[in-house]
Amino acid sequence: MTVSALPFAEHPAFAVLAAVEGALDGTDLSAYEGLGAAEATRLAGRWRKIEARVDAHVAAAVRAVDESGAATRAGATSTGAHLAREFGGDRNAAARDVHLSRSLATASLTEKALADGVVSKEQARLIARTVNDLAVDVSDETRATCERALIEVATTLTWRDLQYRADRITDVFKPVPEVDQDEGQKVEDRERQAYERSQLWMRDNRDGTWDGSFTLPEAQAGALKNALDGFSAPRRRHLDDSQADTDLTYLQRQGRAFVALIDHLPTDGLPDAGGSGMTVTVNLDLQQLIDGIGTATTSTGQRMSAGQVRQHACRVGIVPQVLGGQSLPLDLGRKQRLFTPAQRVALDHRDQGCAMPDCDRPPSWCEAHHATSPWSHGGSTDLEDGVLLCAFHHRTVHDEDWIITFETDDRRPAFIPPARIDPYRRPRTSTRYRPRRT
Ligand SMILES: [Zn+2]
Repeated sequence: MTVSALPFAEHPAFAVLAAVEGALDGTDLSAYEGLGAAEATRLAGRWRKIEARVDAHVAAAVRAVDESGAATRAGATSTGAHLAREFGGDRNAAARDVHLSRSLATASLTEKALADGVVSKEQARLIARTVNDLAVDVSDETRATCERALIEVATTLTWRDLQYRADRITDVFKPVPEVDQDEGQKVEDRERQAYERSQLWMRDNRDGTWDGSFTLPEAQAGALKNALDGFSAPRRRHLDDSQADTDLTYLQRQGRAFVALIDHLPTDGLPDAGGSGMTVTVNLDLQQLIDGIGTATTSTGQRMSAGQVRQHACRVGIVPQVLGGQSLPLDLGRKQRLFTPAQRVALDHRDQGCAMPDCDRPPSWCEAHHATSPWSHGGSTDLEDGVLLCAFHHRTVHDEDWIITFETDDRRPAFIPPARIDPYRRPRTSTRYRPRRT
C-alpha cells in the first residue's frame, strides 16, 4: 500500500518563501539611515541581485500556472489575464511575465543566469528572445554559444548596447556580410513595429496651454531629444536671454527647449550649429551605402537601418558620413586652434557622446577637448588629439590628473585615472557597443 501525500503538505518552495518573508519582516527600512556611500552602493547592488533571483522564481511559478491550464479552467482568456485578476495587477505586466516564463523555458542558460542574479529580468528577456529568434536550423550547441556570449557581456553593456550586441549575435557563427543582413532585418522589423505604434494626442486645457503625449519610434524620438538637448544643454543656456533660468527644473528647461524648437520649425528648419552636436551624423560603410543593406550608427549611438538613413539624409541635420576601414572617420590633420565643424562631426561619430567610461551624455552635451596636449602647447587638432567630453567630465579631466591616450587597438580614447582613484592607474575605455568589422 502506498502512502499518498498528506492533504495539507506544502511544496518545499513554500518553506523557502517563508524564510525570505521572515528575513524581510525582521528588517526595518530605517536601518539604511546613516550608511556610508560605499556600503550603501554595495547593498543596493546586492538587493538588485536578489531582485533578479526572485524574478527567476516568479517566472518559474508563472510557468507552472501557465502549463497547468488554470486560466482556461477559471474562464480567463489567457494566463496573463488570469494572473492579473488573481493579483489585482496590471494585465500587460502579467502578460509580459507569462511571455518571459515561456521564453526562459527554451533558454536554460539565461534562466540559470537570472536565478543566480547574474543578469536582470530585462536583460534575461532580451537574451532569451534573441536566442529563441535564431533560425530553426541553428544547432543547440551554437544557440548555447550565443546565449553564453550575451550573458557574458550583459554586465558590462548598457541595456541599449546589449540590444545592439544581440542584433549582431549571429557573428558568433556567420561571416560579417550575413550578420549585417541579419541585423538589418531585425532593425527594420523593429522600426516598422515602432512606426505602427506611433501616436500623439493633444488636448486644449482652455487656460492658454495644451497638454499632450506621444509614442515615437526611437530614431525620431532620438532626433527630437537631440534637438531639445541642443536647446537646453547647460553650456548653451547663456544663449537664452529671456531670463536667468538657473532655478528651473529639468522638466521646465525641457519644456522651454520644446517651445524654442517649435518656434524654429517653420522658418529655417532646425538650427544647425555647424556640427557642434546638433547635427546627427550617420555612419555607413561605403559598401553598405552602395548595397543599401545593413545598419548604420548615428552620432547619438542609435542603430538605424540603411533605408531609414536614406530617408533621413534628405532632412536637415543629418549628414551621412562614409567611413574607411575600422569604421573610423579619416583624420583631418589641420593645424589650427579649434576643431572645425567637420572634425567635430567626426568626433561625434567616433565617441558617440562623452568618451569618459560609464558616462551616457549625448554629443549635444559635449565639448571637444584637446586630449594629448592643449593647442596652446603646440598641440594639433588631429582627431587623435580630440576627445568628446560632457561639461562635467571636461572639468574632471582638467582638474584631476587624468591622462588620455590613443594606444588602444581601435585608436579610440582610453582614460588613465589618477592614483587616488586607481593606484595601479589602469586605462579605462567607454563600453559603448561597437560592432566588430573584418
Ligand atoms: Zn561625461
